[in-house]
Amino acid sequence: MSVFREVPQAAPVAVFKLSQDFNNDQFPKKVNLGVGAYRTDEGQPWVLPVVKKVEKIVVHDDRLNHEYLPILGLPEFRSSASKIALGDDSPAIQENRVGAVQCLGGTGALKMGAEFLRRFYNGNNNTKTPVYVSAPTWENHNAVFANAGFEDIRSYKYWDAEKRGLDFAGFLGDLESCPEHSIFVLHACAHNPTGTDPTHEQWKQIADTMMRRNLFVFFDSAYQGFASGSLDKDAWAVRYFVSMDFEMLCAQSFSKNFGLYNERVGNLTIVARDADNLKRILSQMEMIVRTTWSNPPSQGARIVAITLNSPELFSEWKDNVKTMADRVLLMRAQLKAKLQALGTPGTWDHITEQIGMFSFTGLNPKQVEYMVKERHVYLMASGRINMCGLTTKNIDYVAESIHEAVTK
Ligand code: PLP
Repeated sequence: MSVFREVPQAAPVAVFKLSQDFNNDQFPKKVNLGVGAYRTDEGQPWVLPVVKKVEKIVVHDDRLNHEYLPILGLPEFRSSASKIALGDDSPAIQENRVGAVQCLGGTGALKMGAEFLRRFYNGNNNTKTPVYVSAPTWENHNAVFANAGFEDIRSYKYWDAEKRGLDFAGFLGDLESCPEHSIFVLHACAHNPTGTDPTHEQWKQIADTMMRRNLFVFFDSAYQGFASGSLDKDAWAVRYFVSMDFEMLCAQSFSKNFGLYNERVGNLTIVARDADNLKRILSQMEMIVRTTWSNPPSQGARIVAITLNSPELFSEWKDNVKTMADRVLLMRAQLKAKLQALGTPGTWDHITEQIGMFSFTGLNPKQVEYMVKERHVYLMASGRINMCGLTTKNIDYVAESIHEAVTK
């Protein structure tokens, strides 16, 4: 008899299950609008040209080896990654109160941050602190914080399904009514899954309320560059909060903007009150990393660090990011135009109003089921589509499928 006989079957992870179903589907016109990865207009993964170039540099550099990295990661990666988020001229960096932990992707950065907060935020081992994530959010947020030991995961209002936009009044209301010192996970830009971000004026009100109510901000920045095509513009909210003197965490993923999905390149930026505080925080981060993955892998972090630390490569990378962002914009405009030309009932302005990789179409679960089962167009049950899954070759088919799903 097995010692594992009591192990229950866990549910599959929705987005990976969707890709598996897509791969098993033999229908020639099938389309995958599920997983959040960039695709070219040929529907292929894209190795960024700058990444290809830097990979060659890494391979030919005889000084590099496979020794362990420091527990907190590659120093030049950590500092340049934090600079991308906070800006080159960030006063917080100049005041030596910004530090970082190289992590396994954005997920690892969220995990490290969550483990640290559970141990040390506002009292030791405080599992009762409410952690607020947006409704809806990236499906892993809840579980990462619950897994780190937080017992009270709640959601704050974010999406107004009726008007297909931000429920700003609801959001502010939750910031006002939640317990003081609650932790809020905020998407830095290109909100997943809704593609809807607060305006600058709204961010200012969010920051004011959070400051007055002593709420803690944990930014999740997984799409810097994808929202506007500009790294600086997409970091506006993070930089504004730093300028308002918040102590905060920011989880950064380089999976999407470097196309380094399977290299697991992430960074947790810590903005502390002062240098002494930072030193103690990093010492505890070291303890957590040591017992989790001991020290991080180097390849992806080297690629990012070399790119960010060379003015020429950096500017090439910015162009590559813009290429991806521009293709998304083009697909948004075309999809909207095609739905309007078909006379598909409803308004489709939200497709071009939303930003980043995803669009929250507003399709209901029945319509999504029709898309998947009858049209072989794979999308998340929430109605979220990955705009990068659209190409000039499949966009007519997808638009017709949406039209049918809505009108049938
Ligand atoms: N945060 C959000 C909002 C995401 O959408 C994702 C990836 O889809 C991540 C974090 C995690 O990124 P990574 O693949 O680098 O772990």
